[in-house]
Amino acid sequence: MSLTSKLSVCIITRIDLYSAEFFVVALVKILSEWRILSMNAIATNVNVVCPVCLKQHIFALSPGYSTLNCPKKGRAFDVLFARTRAKNQHAGPRNSGIKVYQIRLILPDRSEKLVEFRSKATRFELRAGDSAIVAYYNGKAKIVQNCTIHQFMVSADGCFIATAVYGSYDADEVRILRAFRDRQLASSRMGRLLIRSYYVVSPPLAEMLELFPSAKKPAKYVLDKIVSSLETVKRR
Ligand SMILES: [Zn+2]
Repeated sequence: MSLTSKLSVCIITRIDLYSAEFFVVALVKILSEWRILSMNAIATNVNVVCPVCLKQHIFALSPGYSTLNCPKKGRAFDVLFARTRAKNQHAGPRNSGIKVYQIRLILPDRSEKLVEFRSKATRFELRAGDSAIVAYYNGKAKIVQNCTIHQFMVSADGCFIATAVYGSYDADEVRILRAFRDRQLASSRMGRLLIRSYYVVSPPLAEMLELFPSAKKPAKYVLDKIVSSLETVKRR
């Protein structure tokens, strides 16, 4: 074989290898893009974590925005059901334990929607292509759910235990407790320390209360006492 033919064989094999690699990379890209963009346009039954009662209800959902009704509390809430394009996260305010999640979702018209969500959740996975639900209640994003791996996180500004006990974030008692947190507790160092500790222990406790509803009664007894003493102080 002459040098020229050897060289040309070598070059052709190289080109073939490059084109094969290029082809595989392109195929992977196309497949992942297809996974992100393809979403069943027909309604599918989805287990939705309800932002009103924090329980799960099954709804027939189509991609995009829908208004749903909590069958337990009879209140309406909105959801955005979409594929994930990307997710970023960074730490929130110092010592707050809050993480700020930036989630980019693809709407059915292929435009993108950026959702900023603050949560105490330390580990929340959401990869490109996963289907996600953002549940809004009273205009605020309360829950972000990964339907692909069945994981969800709750917004950081909830009173978890109180919401679990009184059944709603908007119950009068929860409102009184929230006002106490924001007006009294947040103004002192000791109070802020209390708030921080409360947010560490309360999400798992609230989850326990949902699993063992019989424990809600004693928890409600304690919270009722606190609420009524707050009311007495306010009236003085
Ligand atoms: Zn509900």
